[in-house]
Amino acid sequence: MKAVVYRGERDLGIENRDPEPPGPGQVRIEVAYTGICGTDLHIYHGDMDARVGDSAIIGHEMSGRIAAVGEGVTGWNIGQAVTVMPTRPCGRCAACRRGNSHVCHAMNFLGIDSPGAMQSSWTVPVELVLPLPEELPLDHAALVEPVAVAVHDVRRGNVTADDQVVVVGGGPVGVLIATVARGRGARVLLVEPDPFRREVAEGIGIEAVDPRATDVVALVNDRTDGAGADIAFEVSGSPAGVTTAVDVLTTRGRLVMVAIHPQPREVNLHRFFWRELELLGARLYQRDDMVEAIRLVASGAIPARQLISRVEPVEAAGAAFEALEGGGVMKVLLDVREGNQ
Ligand SMILES: [Zn+2]
Ligand SMILES: [Zn+2]
Repeated sequence: MKAVVYRGERDLGIENRDPEPPGPGQVRIEVAYTGICGTDLHIYHGDMDARVGDSAIIGHEMSGRIAAVGEGVTGWNIGQAVTVMPTRPCGRCAACRRGNSHVCHAMNFLGIDSPGAMQSSWTVPVELVLPLPEELPLDHAALVEPVAVAVHDVRRGNVTADDQVVVVGGGPVGVLIATVARGRGARVLLVEPDPFRREVAEGIGIEAVDPRATDVVALVNDRTDGAGADIAFEVSGSPAGVTTAVDVLTTRGRLVMVAIHPQPREVNLHRFFWRELELLGARLYQRDDMVEAIRLVASGAIPARQLISRVEPVEAAGAAFEALEGGGVMKVLLDVREGNQ
């Protein structure tokens, strides 16, 4: 079977490996599609070598079908469509003991800390597997994991109908947050400098503005009788994005921090004091978020077709990573099915 192997900075290999038979409590999945995520790009750039070993199979956004079940596994059928929640909490740390195992301090993240989904045969513990509705196309189902991120973020922000929401950053996660928030009845404005990303957002009915051409704070104030936004999501990871997300908020507004900021940022804390703002971190997802994400993708609430820019054969993984860096794409999937060509 084929596997995309990270060999070091900007070096991906396509290797033939033997499928791993499922042990007790495991299932073997024939993977269909695996999405390339921002995290995979960080790995590709060599930024995560301390966590990702040499010859690591990466990838964690996937869909596929059950191919074999190990000893003691019941309730699953061969050929059943599934996805995988790629997080294995330790169950012992302080976060796990307090019921927050999704942000476990010693998390084993499949595709980073252990072999991931960019392989045509993936063997995983059965407790991480979730069933997919048969009518859901498997390419669309590869979006379930990033949609679960958006569902979790929107829950953290407690978005309700009639809220004015501002999403700063219009990559795949930002656009998905905007879509999920809109699905809750909120009015949503997306802030994104890249014209291609704005075009994709507008194409699925999300208003998107260029922060270099539009005074975002003035626009939001204008829309809200001078009040400001109820919730802002910072998904850009940029200092300017943080400033915008703080400045648009209304009294007692909430800032949900989604992006990974690699270093400390300057934040206008006087505004937090003056307007009694709240700051909430939001990371990964819980199983309920995955279940809700499956429901949203299957129902068509997530416009998967418009968000998947390209599907490349696994042999073209290197080119697909390069394309993502070059811009002009939203979500890129690898077709990892055996015999896809
Ligand atoms: Zn991801
Ligand atoms: Zn833990």
